Amino acid sequence: HEHQYACIGCGVDIQTEEPKEIGYTPKKALQKSLDNNEDVYCQRCFKLRHYNELHPASLTDDDFLRMLSGIADKDALVVFVIDVFDLYGSMISGLKRFVGDNPVLFVANKVDLYPKVVNRNKIKNWIENQAKEYGIKPVGTILTSGNKRVNIDQLLNAINKHRKGKDAYVVGVTNVGKSTLINKLIQSIGGDKEVITTSQFPGTTLGQIHIPFDEHSSLIDTPGIIHRQQIAHYLSDKDVNAVLPQKELQPKTFQLNAEQTIFIGGVARVDYVEGEKNSLTFYTPQKIDLHRTKREKATEFYAKHKGGILTPPSKESAADYPELVKTRFTVKRKSDIVIAGLGWVTVHKPGVVEVWRPKQVNVMIRDSVI
Ligand code: GDP
Repeated sequence: HEHQYACIGCGVDIQTEEPKEIGYTPKKALQKSLDNNEDVYCQRCFKLRHYNELHPASLTDDDFLRMLSGIADKDALVVFVIDVFDLYGSMISGLKRFVGDNPVLFVANKVDLYPKVVNRNKIKNWIENQAKEYGIKPVGTILTSGNKRVNIDQLLNAINKHRKGKDAYVVGVTNVGKSTLINKLIQSIGGDKEVITTSQFPGTTLGQIHIPFDEHSSLIDTPGIIHRQQIAHYLSDKDVNAVLPQKELQPKTFQLNAEQTIFIGGVARVDYVEGEKNSLTFYTPQKIDLHRTKREKATEFYAKHKGGILTPPSKESAADYPELVKTRFTVKRKSDIVIAGLGWVTVHKPGVVEVWRPKQVNVMIRDSVI
């Protein structure tokens, strides 16, 4: 029976089989530490320690809930990171229960994706309204970009103001850009400090990493969870790179008559069903091509070209991509139809629109932010 080791940094059980899962350490590295009688670190803590680089990590559902419920019992600030581009894919149901009475600071990340013309206050209002639906009233909402280093110092100031000398737990589902953001925060907190502390309670902290503010308090990074509402969940790693946009979205406008369809690669489809001639503007990732067809031919067209000209999904993963189901929207005034994780479509005039995407992927309508 193999002996079980715990990472001295984050307390997680060490495993040598699954590089993408938490606690991974290459077999050789583990052996070397044991041979030299050194402390055992998981690869994530090792890299943070030696290169000051934090890498993403995720937990399974049960472990994630266990970790979150541990936070409710703490007296701390909760820093909740969401992706402004995928609000629904960012939300955690039961968030309120898990934060308990602790203050929550909302960090709306990847703001660089929104074209400059989008009013930042409108984004903020939209997010705070959504937070309300989850029963949360954040002490503040900060729009950031980890990639482009937008508002990192403001974020650190807000964290310091609201944590009142206590710990701050950074929580978020995977892919919201939490690791990238924390790496920028680490640089601002002070590069020469030893960034991780030894886990006091190995095995119970489940991959939490402490980045000390001072002797008494830390910024604590927590692993994320893979969210089933994210479109990324249904794509191969290679395809995910195409749907996770890195650059400001470049809108593309189509003049459409009723009974016309636009495919967003092979991941989703937007039908203009009924109404006067209309403009639909697509704010979707640049790497995904848009294709126009007649609505009556669209289903057949999809069956034939999914994984081909309608990509992603790529040819190899097309068969695994879930069937598309539709939701109908009657647009009354200029509105955005948001497809979780993929962006949104601004419908400029009244009309009926149907959006097709995998069943689990949320679609909703909001007043246009432009
Ligand atoms: P984590 O899983 O939440 O820790 O997320 P990562 O930091 O690993 O980032 C997930 C993906 O989002 C990567 O493809 C990043 O390049 C991208 N990303 C991270 N931060 C930003 C950001 O501020 N803006 C944009 N556009 N993309 C980002």
